[in-house]
Amino acid sequence: MNSQKIIETEDTYGANVYAKRPIVFMKGDEATIWDSEGREYIDCTGSYGSCLVGYCHPKIVHAISEQAAILSSCHGYAYTSVRAELMKKIVDIAPKGLEKVFLSNSGSESIECALKAARKFTGKKEVIAMMGGFHGKTLGSLSATWNMKYRSAFQPLIPHFKHVPYGNLEKVEDAVSTDTAAIVVEPIQGETGVKFPPEEFLKGLRELCNRKSLILIIDEVQTGLGRTGKMFACEHWKVTPDILCVAKGLAGGLAIGATLTRKDIMFSLSRGEHSSTYGGNPITAAAALATLDVILQENLPQKATELGERFLTHLRSMQSESKIIRDVRGLGLMIGVDFRFDIYDIITGCMRQGLLVLDAGRTVMRLLPPLTISPEQVDKASNIIVKAVEEKEKTSSLGSTP
Ligand SMILES: *Cc1c(COP(=O)(O)O)cnc(C)c1O
Repeated sequence: MNSQKIIETEDTYGANVYAKRPIVFMKGDEATIWDSEGREYIDCTGSYGSCLVGYCHPKIVHAISEQAAILSSCHGYAYTSVRAELMKKIVDIAPKGLEKVFLSNSGSESIECALKAARKFTGKKEVIAMMGGFHGKTLGSLSATWNMKYRSAFQPLIPHFKHVPYGNLEKVEDAVSTDTAAIVVEPIQGETGVKFPPEEFLKGLRELCNRKSLILIIDEVQTGLGRTGKMFACEHWKVTPDILCVAKGLAGGLAIGATLTRKDIMFSLSRGEHSSTYGGNPITAAAALATLDVILQENLPQKATELGERFLTHLRSMQSESKIIRDVRGLGLMIGVDFRFDIYDIITGCMRQGLLVLDAGRTVMRLLPPLTISPEQVDKASNIIVKAVEEKEKTSSLGSTP
């Protein structure tokens, strides 16, 4: 199919739920991706963060093809070596105290398992989630997600979810009742614009959960696995949750979710109360094992710290020259550039110059590049963003306002 035909066909047969860009990808290598016109891009979308170790890492390609030729399926009713190894490895890298893992196929599913486990363990119904929080779009995870654009057509969602202001410990505590099971939170809000809570917030939530016997669920689907410079972002604040959700990037881009819990919490789910046909699939497990090896061997959390600082330095010096940038923030290679207006033109400007970036809300440019991006690509990407911003400043009225 030629690219026009590919676009037409997806548009004809696919659901119309994605904000599509008119671009057809052919091939990827590390942080570089090529389209059907042979144009080359630095990919700072990282396929929405799921391409954590870059496209087609040779070790992951090898692990997938090798496993595909040995055993392609193995339902959880039986045992298999690659899954056993993965479970052990995930628990090994997890914060201490999280000793059990349930494998599924997406971030949303990792949240579903967390919500069910928290309710079963506590015997309570209420869940406190954050305004601005994003946890997925299946009905359970959507009940924890804040954005009305995603929720409103599907009311009523699961009852007994309360949303409180992100970062406001007092409001969280006010929302706790005798029927509260859990608090669910992102350590840094991704979809809503790379938003950081006040320094003491996560610690405060931990103390509150201890005091009131609540389950603390930390959603690290976007922040986990080295993205922010530590294996898990909660480590920056020295907070360990009772349940930790991981997904994006864990299997080198293949579909996976993982819910890590304390032993007693996972034990509260009895036989049949939760399961997944594809969870822990051997090919996915092999990909995840290889991904974790790459993250550890290539010291990717450390790379995320160094390259993140390099990126932020470039972007902050641009901010000091610019009237249209409100804020530049980030940790490791999770970066947000907050503009004073809609960033559609800037995103397309970057794309024309060979850089793919994400939006998060209308005004925030979000960067989630593979952690294997090179320093030269970080510099080049920064230059492209600077140029796109300068172009926009020339044409926007804001830019010329004295
Ligand atoms: C992407 C994301 C999810 C949902 O993951 P899916 O794999 O799309 O279901 C949940 N939580 C956070 C923080 C995310 O970034």
